[in-house]
Amino acid sequence: MKAEDINKILILDQGDPVAGQLLAKAYAVFGAETEYVVLKAHKTHNIALRMMEQTVREENPELVLIGATALGEEIAPALGVRFRTGVAAHCVDIKVNDEGRLTFLIPAFGGRVIGEIFVPDAKAGHPAIATVKPGIFQQRISLYDGFDRTDIGSAPSVRIIDVDALAADGSIPEGSKTQGAFRLAEITPRQRAASDIASAELILCGGYGLGNEETWHKLEALADKLNGAAACTRAALDAGWGCMEDTMIGTSGRAVSPEIYVGFGISGAAHHTCGIAGAGRIISINTDKDAEAFAASDYKGVFDAEQVIDALLDQIK
Ligand SMILES: Cc1cc2nc3c(=O)[nH]c(=O)nc-3n(C[C@H](O)[C@H](O)[C@H](O)COP(=O)(O)OP(=O)(O)OC[C@H]3O[C@@H](n4cnc5c(N)ncnc54)[C@H](O)[C@@H]3O)c2cc1C
Repeated sequence: MKAEDINKILILDQGDPVAGQLLAKAYAVFGAETEYVVLKAHKTHNIALRMMEQTVREENPELVLIGATALGEEIAPALGVRFRTGVAAHCVDIKVNDEGRLTFLIPAFGGRVIGEIFVPDAKAGHPAIATVKPGIFQQRISLYDGFDRTDIGSAPSVRIIDVDALAADGSIPEGSKTQGAFRLAEITPRQRAASDIASAELILCGGYGLGNEETWHKLEALADKLNGAAACTRAALDAGWGCMEDTMIGTSGRAVSPEIYVGFGISGAAHHTCGIAGAGRIISINTDKDAEAFAASDYKGVFDAEQVIDALLDQIK
């Protein structure tokens, strides 16, 4: 689809700042000529899919942007099936290419390449759909209080469809609130409180190069000592050392923006590094002097991760 054919963009606002990030990005790419519609469903998650479907039918957008939250990851493919259209999941960028085509950038083949995704048949009412993790786009527009952290200059004109208000009015029949709802299957008690990587100013991130569970626990202890948060890569998570899913950084994990991020034994795959684009300073420790992680780092150390962690634990009382 040509970017010039995009007249209307629909964004789902689930109450997460990602909606403002999507709006800022869309506005930066498509400008003031495009119409922006936001479906606000903060309290009405259970009917968000139904309302999105109805809104796509009524508004006929050419593009739908959804935050890749747990809810967004359910809604986007379901909408894709309903409208028989393409979904670009976990985009790390949205742009217009040299031929004027709408292009979604997605890490592929284990993060070794960035793939360009096109949805050629998208059109009004049969929109291209894309999901983006919270934090991938840093700049955002605060949807209800004007601008926030944006240098875009002028305000986009945004129409808000407030599903929460509709529900409060009772205009959505009571019985329908359960339609399309997500069922809670099971609540699993957490083993321990996850360090909050979203708000941490210092993140120590462990990769597969940590080598074993013992070193992972040393990394956690070091993060505690430094009032920071421990995070992990997919490979470290899959190794089963006790890292938790919600501390994984990357396209299928979380995007973070600490002042300092230190990666221990991390190769630097794009699936991971796109989640640290907002970090102030990036430090990498790796035994391989040619590790890809060094390319995006402000400081690099060609050392054994465990030895560095041991030395820091010794030094910091
Ligand atoms: C669809 C998809 C989504 C994905 N999403 C994510 C995601 O959200 N987050 C994510 O992290 N990954 C994700 N991945 C996986 C990602 O592509 C990489 O495979 C993963 O990030 C690699 O993790 P790693 O760097 O810890 O391990 P590896 O790639 O195995 O790298 C280990 C590194 O440790 C170094 N090393 C070895 N021994 C030592 C030592 N003693 N001291 C210091 N360094 C050492 C090695 O030189 C190497 O560079 C995804 C993949 C796919 C296909």
